[in-house]
Amino acid sequence: MPDDIANSWESRADAHTFYGFTDFATIHARGPVVLTHGKGPYVFDVHGKSYLDANSGLWNMVAGFDHPGLIATAQEQYARFPGYHTFFGRLSDQTVMLSEKLVEVSPFEDGKVFYTNSGSEANDTMVKMLWLIWAMEGQPQRRKILTRVNAYHGMTAVAASMTGKPYVRAFGLPLPGFLHLSCPHYWRNGAEGETEAQFTARMAAELEETIAREGADTIAGFFAEPVMGAGGVIVPSDGYFQAIVPILRKHGIPVISDEVICGFGRTGNTWGCETFNFMPDAIISSKNLTAGFFPMGAIILGPELSDRLQKVSEQTEEFGHGFTAGGHPVGCAIALKAIDVVMNEGLADNVRKLTPKFQAGLKKLAQNRNIGEWRGVGLMAALEAVSDKATKRPFDGHLNVSDRIANACTDQGLICRPLGQSIVLAPPFIMTDDQMDEMFTKLETALNGVFAEVA
Ligand SMILES: *Cc1c(COP(=O)(O)O)cnc(C)c1O
Repeated sequence: MPDDIANSWESRADAHTFYGFTDFATIHARGPVVLTHGKGPYVFDVHGKSYLDANSGLWNMVAGFDHPGLIATAQEQYARFPGYHTFFGRLSDQTVMLSEKLVEVSPFEDGKVFYTNSGSEANDTMVKMLWLIWAMEGQPQRRKILTRVNAYHGMTAVAASMTGKPYVRAFGLPLPGFLHLSCPHYWRNGAEGETEAQFTARMAAELEETIAREGADTIAGFFAEPVMGAGGVIVPSDGYFQAIVPILRKHGIPVISDEVICGFGRTGNTWGCETFNFMPDAIISSKNLTAGFFPMGAIILGPELSDRLQKVSEQTEEFGHGFTAGGHPVGCAIALKAIDVVMNEGLADNVRKLTPKFQAGLKKLAQNRNIGEWRGVGLMAALEAVSDKATKRPFDGHLNVSDRIANACTDQGLICRPLGQSIVLAPPFIMTDDQMDEMFTKLETALNGVFAEVA
């Protein structure tokens, strides 16, 4: 960052804002991007430069950055009733309507909704619900939580324990009793000569062995993203959920679908569990639940878990848990509008319409000799860089290949996300054909430039 502009937005950001998930070496060299506003899928920095945001903010700004209907809804609700909670049997009308809507659009015939302020809090809350249910039903030892390596379930202490990424270890996590099964990424983790069907069978066998080793009566629940998002857009191997869900059911282990990214259209259907054809016991939602216009998380309990939670909570007199701003009337009004916008104003249709073009573009880029794999479903995808395509050998870590690609994109006015050795794309649902062409043209230029330097 040029130090002659100590008073720049970039220096001021650096001086007093602590960034999450930011590489300090790069940020000191390049400076942050300080943004002022957005228009459609574009964001604008303090210098007036525009960027096509191919990550929808953090997966969530699916309706773009200036959707007039969402803005009007927020303004109207702020004027009508700008804040309330859901404690002590008091709650807003908007909250009642959103719960009805969420159960209606869920895969469940019936159910109940609980509100948080984020996806992490929703996962933490779901774990506490399971712990309470099992304890009150006479199985207090049933506390272990199963997730997978590379899973991302959030960053509060419990959610970070569920997250299967190495960076949680610096904090002394995971907490005891949080177990991580293998990541069902066939391209990277398939053994020499192993077919995809054999790989899936191996994932299922590992689950059986884990349950046998730990004891089913010590396991409170299993959580999975239908497609791992922040783990690198990992689409599970063929038949994965069909192989593992029956095993979990056989042992009475609740299946929780973390749909924080996949939910509300990202995979081409309303829910990721629809796309991958399995029925969970509960759904965790956040991010595009409000199209990113309000911080909100929700747990949608299917009929069985909601009955069980109701019963045990009546025994303890109350469910001793909640968040001050959970079920906030403005957030609920925005979520109702966002669901309507995505499902009824053509955004979900646009995801399905754009997917073939998106995937054709990815396939074309994957012909590059330094792209090992493209993977994705609907409007979420990753391109994984390799130094050798045949052996899938990654580039040396110190080359920071994906960071360099992302920075080269930023220079051209395209935002995409480096993740391990991959580049992640999750365009907003409002993207047009022309904007998608712009995205691929800029990305290709960035890839060619960086690979020419490092390969
Ligand atoms: C982002 C994310 C979370 C955490 O949500 P926050 O709102 O950041 O706490 C949980 N699960 C998944 C799948 C996510 O992508």
